[in-house]
Amino acid sequence: MLYQRSSQLFAEAEQVIPGGVNSPVRAFKAVGGTPIFVKSAKGAYLYDEDGNRLIDYINSWGPMILGHAYEPVVNAVIEKAKLGTSFGMPTELETQIAALAVSMVPNIDKIRFVNSGTEACMSAIRLARGFTKRDKIIKFAGCYHGHSDSFLIQAGSGAITFGSPNSPGVTAGTAKDTLLANYNDIENVKAVIEANKDEIAAIIVEPVAGNMGCIPPVKGFLEGLRTLCTENGILLIFDEVMTGFRLAKGGVQELSNVDADIVCFGKVIGGGLPVGAFAARAEIMNYLAPLGPVYQAGTLSGNPLAMAAGLAMLQALNNDAAIFQRLADKTAYLASGIDKVLKANNVAFTINTIGSMISVHFDANPVVDFKTAAKGDNETFKKFFHGLLQEGIYIAPSAYETWFITDALTYEDLDFTINAIDKVSKSF
Ligand SMILES: *Cc1c(COP(=O)(O)O)cnc(C)c1O
Repeated sequence: MLYQRSSQLFAEAEQVIPGGVNSPVRAFKAVGGTPIFVKSAKGAYLYDEDGNRLIDYINSWGPMILGHAYEPVVNAVIEKAKLGTSFGMPTELETQIAALAVSMVPNIDKIRFVNSGTEACMSAIRLARGFTKRDKIIKFAGCYHGHSDSFLIQAGSGAITFGSPNSPGVTAGTAKDTLLANYNDIENVKAVIEANKDEIAAIIVEPVAGNMGCIPPVKGFLEGLRTLCTENGILLIFDEVMTGFRLAKGGVQELSNVDADIVCFGKVIGGGLPVGAFAARAEIMNYLAPLGPVYQAGTLSGNPLAMAAGLAMLQALNNDAAIFQRLADKTAYLASGIDKVLKANNVAFTINTIGSMISVHFDANPVVDFKTAAKGDNETFKKFFHGLLQEGIYIAPSAYETWFITDALTYEDLDFTINAIDKVSKSF
């Protein structure tokens, strides 16, 4: 496939945008080459500026669960836009989407809308700190909660030490309040809590990890977190920015039967417009301004176009009893097809899936945490990525990303993908 025009557009973008992109992973640094510029998308397909059609397995990193340019969402946005695009005043629409979200997700009474997953997670930990009157949080190595300072932390020297900043600009003062633990390792979490008794406000976790490839929780991990939090007066925050309204109507709380204290949303909840949200039982949410002392605000929060898109998306998911099973069936079909061809071609790999999330790790050992995810062979991944691109298939340009299956994908698309993977993996 030719990418002349994309390359030209990227060169022009680099002149005026740092790295040519507005979010770093888009720049293809992990796989080499130059990014593809999109012209339009419909259903399961992207159409780029060179006229190529690509089957899309990223789907805007999650939101387009029903496919691109999904008509009820597009129409809702068009109709709302004609009535004015922002007021900075309350609208009925905000109550409608809030009520629907609260009815779909277990264990939440109230929800507040923001503009991104980053904002949702940032606000959730402020709320948890205000509510518990404690400063520290625990996060897991390899989990991503957006780019606010408290989360840009890497492991320090010892397992139970404070984290250290992993970006310049994050202060040591901020880093010292973020403690790191290993995903799927409840004993490790216990030890971190033990070493910081009565200082921890919250544990924030991706209840199914999706930002180090897809890593489902091992049996007992989420239950163990719940117990530890309850015993120690710590709030459990499920960051469901990726999994919320994707793995089930009620997200991982519904799947696992484990109750979180605060839940963060993004991606699907906005139907492809910039939306995030966080939710909890009333006692916690009432701690937010204007009812309570914890400040949080936003000029464009609850924006009518964003709320219209989100409401249309949630309604579509809520009204389709078979949607999550349909997605899981497609994922299972794809996973079993990939498994077959990679085995036949003697590739070392592990496939992790749950619901509509799937990732292929190029290492034969089980991938259960950041350490095991990092063992994946990136050279193989690069060949895989560029090979698939040549075949007209777009997966995320990084080995640490999950693929997202959409309802718009047909079994013909899945077969085409499996055949392409067979062809590409023969030349590893
Ligand atoms: C994408 C993501 C975020 C950040 O959301 P943005 O909208 O990109 O700010 C936070 N948490 C998780 C689990 C995510 O996948």
